[in-house]
Amino acid sequence: MNERYDVIIVGAGPGGSSAACSLAERGFRVLLIDKEHFPREKVCGDGIAPRAVHSLYRLGLRDELQGRFKRTEGIRFYATHGGLTEVSYPMGSRYPDHGYVIPRRELDAILLARADGLGAEVMQGCRVTGVLPPRGGRFPGVAAECGGEKKILEGRFIVGADGPSSTIGKELGLLRSDPLYLGVSVRCYMAGVKGISDFLEIYPEDAISPSCGWIFPVDEETANVGVGYMLYARHKRRINLNRAFEDFLSRTRHAAAKLRGAEPRGRLRGAMLRVGMGGAVPRCRNVLLVGDAASLTNPISGEGITYALESGRWAGETLAAAMHSGDESLLENYPRILEWYYRRYFFLGTYAIRYGNNPCFINPLLFITSRLHGLGDKMGRFLMNCRRSDYPP
Ligand SMILES: Cc1cc2nc3c(=O)[nH]c(=O)nc-3n(C[C@H](O)[C@H](O)[C@H](O)COP(=O)(O)OP(=O)(O)OC[C@H]3O[C@@H](n4cnc5c(N)ncnc54)[C@H](O)[C@@H]3O)c2cc1C
Repeated sequence: MNERYDVIIVGAGPGGSSAACSLAERGFRVLLIDKEHFPREKVCGDGIAPRAVHSLYRLGLRDELQGRFKRTEGIRFYATHGGLTEVSYPMGSRYPDHGYVIPRRELDAILLARADGLGAEVMQGCRVTGVLPPRGGRFPGVAAECGGEKKILEGRFIVGADGPSSTIGKELGLLRSDPLYLGVSVRCYMAGVKGISDFLEIYPEDAISPSCGWIFPVDEETANVGVGYMLYARHKRRINLNRAFEDFLSRTRHAAAKLRGAEPRGRLRGAMLRVGMGGAVPRCRNVLLVGDAASLTNPISGEGITYALESGRWAGETLAAAMHSGDESLLENYPRILEWYYRRYFFLGTYAIRYGNNPCFINPLLFITSRLHGLGDKMGRFLMNCRRSDYPP
């Protein structure tokens, strides 16, 4: 059966659910469609930065999150020779004074339930296989497979929130394969990690360079442990990600001491990141991309939940304005909003990590920031894109 929706949103990660909430609460007929059944696993570090907390609280989720998930107070950076730099939230910014670590299996189910509660129609276990050929200058909908049954779903607008390998982006030729904007990471939940703290711990250690490792506390004894790097570094230096993970567990100066004897809970799993805005074009006619599909992961930290939540909301607001006014040229505003908020920072971040991710730079930098707290705060604000002057968007 062909159904006509105001907006079809493909992908129910943070980007898709945020867009669905923004449209459903304004009374539009929204379809939120995902190939998985929720709750489902999503490979991630599960670190929720203060800027993402701000967006989650805006969605009315404060009571759902507080007291239920591990709250974090800041970030610790461990350099092999530079010592420990500790930065406490809100680092002089206007964002909340805390973050969380929330397994994505739970976070994404909470967001999906919120979109459902606001009136979005949710279709789970339905894989979108393509975009329908253009009709009258616009894309009229998507083709999907739901439990072996083929479906044609029609909508006035389409939002591609289907992650870094976006089917929507690929079909419309909106994705770019420049390794400057592509990364890859693996993570594993581990029990019995020593000295678990209330801080996100980041380890740019020499033994795994140019990869960077993390230990994020999930509860009092389990942590999300992972390593990642940018693709251009692998091409140049032939890194193997599984080996980098093993080296992180055994050969690093600071992390190995905490991870010795820890037991994996589940498999080591990996996924791609599309960062820095350069890996995609965010709009084509009546289709908008959000989150990872639009290459909106932070190129320095690999943090993308913030940007998925924000871009989802802005896409929803832009589409709502276009539908209210009947003026579709308003869609041109969506890429402009992304440019305005992110372009400068993402450009700086892309090149800072490209040329600065090097033990010769990181060790002295962290040596200095470990002694000068004001500078440490500045570095934390830059890393988390939480500038003091930012009014939380
Ligand atoms: C190892 C790793 C660690 C990370 N750690 C962090 C971290 O600690 N903090 C942080 O903020 N960010 C982190 N990120 C980045 C973060 O995971 C992403 O930026 C974020 O998930 C983007 O959200 P999204 O909604 O755009 O896409 P996704 O979360 O990827 O959601 C996309 C959804 O689309 C669905 N989908 C895909 N294709 C189709 C299709 N054809 N049809 C229907 N549905 C489809 C998928 O099932 C999925 O549910 C990490 C990434 C990786 C890989």
